[in-house]
Amino acid sequence: MVVELAKELVSHDSNCVEGKEGEVAQFIFNYLKDLGLKPVKQFYDEKKNRFNVLVFGSNETNLMINGHLDTVPINDPKNWQRNPFGEIANGKLYGRGACDTKGNIACLLASMSEYFNENLVYVFNVEEEITLGGIERVLELRKSKLKNITYSLSLEPTDGKIMAGNKGQYAFEVIARGKTAHASQPYLGENAIYKIAQATLRIQEYNKKINKITHPLFGHATASVGIIDGGTASNVVPDLASINVDRRILPNENSGKVEKELRELVSPLETKFINRIEACETPLGSKIVKEMQLVLKDLNMDNKAYGFTATSELSEIRSHGIEGIIFGTAQLAQAHKPDEFITLEELKRGTEIFSALLKKWRA
Ligand SMILES: [Zn+2]
Repeated sequence: MVVELAKELVSHDSNCVEGKEGEVAQFIFNYLKDLGLKPVKQFYDEKKNRFNVLVFGSNETNLMINGHLDTVPINDPKNWQRNPFGEIANGKLYGRGACDTKGNIACLLASMSEYFNENLVYVFNVEEEITLGGIERVLELRKSKLKNITYSLSLEPTDGKIMAGNKGQYAFEVIARGKTAHASQPYLGENAIYKIAQATLRIQEYNKKINKITHPLFGHATASVGIIDGGTASNVVPDLASINVDRRILPNENSGKVEKELRELVSPLETKFINRIEACETPLGSKIVKEMQLVLKDLNMDNKAYGFTATSELSEIRSHGIEGIIFGTAQLAQAHKPDEFITLEELKRGTEIFSALLKKWRA
């Protein structure tokens, strides 16, 4: 059953660029209704038919499980050997979202059909891949329907490992301005590329320095230049150049200090944030970590806690005081690539894990 469910979810294009989650969200809404549950729609963008689907438990409910419905786009279908909207071969389900994170949603849905537990809130939300807007909308219910939530689990491909937090990401643009001139008289201008080149080298040095900042679960801090842009023609002194920088932050770093440090590093050049996700961690003694460790132990799986190196919705959830983990089967290495897949074994395993959690969890 879980395989059919996963294949069905993957068959609905829900790419983040077009914000097309409506179809797959409606499928889940109907599925939950057919189980005799009372799913609720929470609109994110009514015109585009983008909505979160939620099933609220009883008043005692203190655990929220959420999975995002959007996927990255397929991009060039020519790069896919397999059908991006679902194909089973070699013991794997291929398709966009199979691994990130519709496969895991299928596992949860399959478990819910047998072991519905009303001590949980189940959330299937839009908009995770570009902004964290979907989960932000869900958390607007923090003062009402979600006021008793103390724990969370966000579905992501973690290869069946407990991730007790994630690194933060500061993505920002550095802009250098100069003065244009004819390249035969460069002394009349001010070359913006020379300025951005110096900033680029400073980031390279800075990366070496911050690599020494470590955390037991998350490894080390990093900084990387991903895009460089500038100039219009070889015979013109450029008056504009820019780089995009990605700084990954550890939960034990002070984000205010990091921000200040970055601005000083490239000063007097202008900086502009493109994305800003804070690092977060959940104490290893938290009930959600402990309970999940017991579930995995019973299934003879690795039950140590790790740190997620990518960003996730947990940053947003954690900022509301909720202790959460990131968890799911399938491997992050398969995500966002052509021929993305989840193995049928992982689908089976995921269903066993979520069934065990649903059977076990008490508020
Ligand atoms: Zn994901």
